[in-house]
Amino acid sequence: MKQKQERIVVKVGTSTLTGELGNSNLKRMEQLALVLSDIHNQGHQVILVSSGAIAVGANKMHLPEKPTTVQMKQAAAAVGQCTNMFLYDKFFGYFDKTVAQILLNAEDIEHEQKKENLINTFYALLTHGIIPIVNENDSISYTEIESEEKLFGDNDMLSAVVAVLTEADRLIILSDIDGFYDKDPRLYKDAKLIKRIEVIDESVFRLAGGAGSRRGTGGMRTKVQAAAMATSQGIDTIITNGKDPDVIRRIMAGKEEGTLFSGKRN
Ligand code: ADP
Repeated sequence: MKQKQERIVVKVGTSTLTGELGNSNLKRMEQLALVLSDIHNQGHQVILVSSGAIAVGANKMHLPEKPTTVQMKQAAAAVGQCTNMFLYDKFFGYFDKTVAQILLNAEDIEHEQKKENLINTFYALLTHGIIPIVNENDSISYTEIESEEKLFGDNDMLSAVVAVLTEADRLIILSDIDGFYDKDPRLYKDAKLIKRIEVIDESVFRLAGGAGSRRGTGGMRTKVQAAAMATSQGIDTIITNGKDPDVIRRIMAGKEEGTLFSGKRN
C-alpha cells in the first residue's frame, strides 16, 4: 500500500547536535541530513527546527567559558548560526537537497501580515522541494536565551508554532532522552517511559519537572507545552531520542518510538 505523503516538522536540540564543549556533532548532523533526505525522497515534506547556534558559536569563538551576558550570547548565536547552516547546506547537499534558512521572532507571528508572509514563504519553499531550517532569531530577540514564559521560550515551542502554521501532520521532537517518563530519569533510576499520552493536563505537566540538561534549554516542560499546542490542532507529537536519527525513519514507517502525544482532531 502506498504510504500517505506527510508534512513533518522535526526539532533537534542543542544536546543532540553538539558535544560537551559545544563542538558540532558532525556524524549526527550528517545522519540527520541523510535520514531527512531519504524521507523527502519518499515524497514527504520536511521542515527542520534546529537549535545549537549559541553553543557552536561559543566554541568557534574559543571563548574560555559559556557566554553569560545577553550581548555575548547573541554574538555567539550569530557565529554559530552561520556554522550550523554551512554544515547543513553541505550535508543536505551531499544528498542533492536544497535547504533554506528561516529565522523567526515571536513578534513575526503576532503580526497578521508578517504571519501571512511567513506561511506563504514556507509553502513556496515546500512546494519547490526545499527543506526549510528554522531557528529563533537569537541575535535580535532573546526569548530563547533569557526568558522562561515568552511565546517561543525556546525552540520546542517554536517547533510547535511552525507545525501549526504549516498545518503539519506530525511533529517529532528529538532530545537527549528516550521519551517522556513518569519522572525525571536523570534523578530517578526507576523512572518508566510513557508510550502514549492522550490528554495533556496538569498531572502531565507535573511529571515534566523544571528546565533540562546543561546544554539543552527547555527540559521536558517546554516539550510538553509544545505537544499541548500541536496536539490541540490535531498534530501528533512524538518525543524521542535523537542519538540515532534513524528513529525518524522508523516513526514514518509506523513503528512506536519514544512517547506519542496523540493529536485531537475536533
Ligand atoms: P534538548 O536539548 O534535547 O531539548 P533538554 O535537556 O532541554 O533537551 O530536555 C531533556 C531533559 O529533560 C532530559 O535529559 C531529562 O533529564 C529532563 N526531564 C525532566 N523530567 C523528565 C521526564 N518526566 N521525562 C523525561 N525527561 C525529563
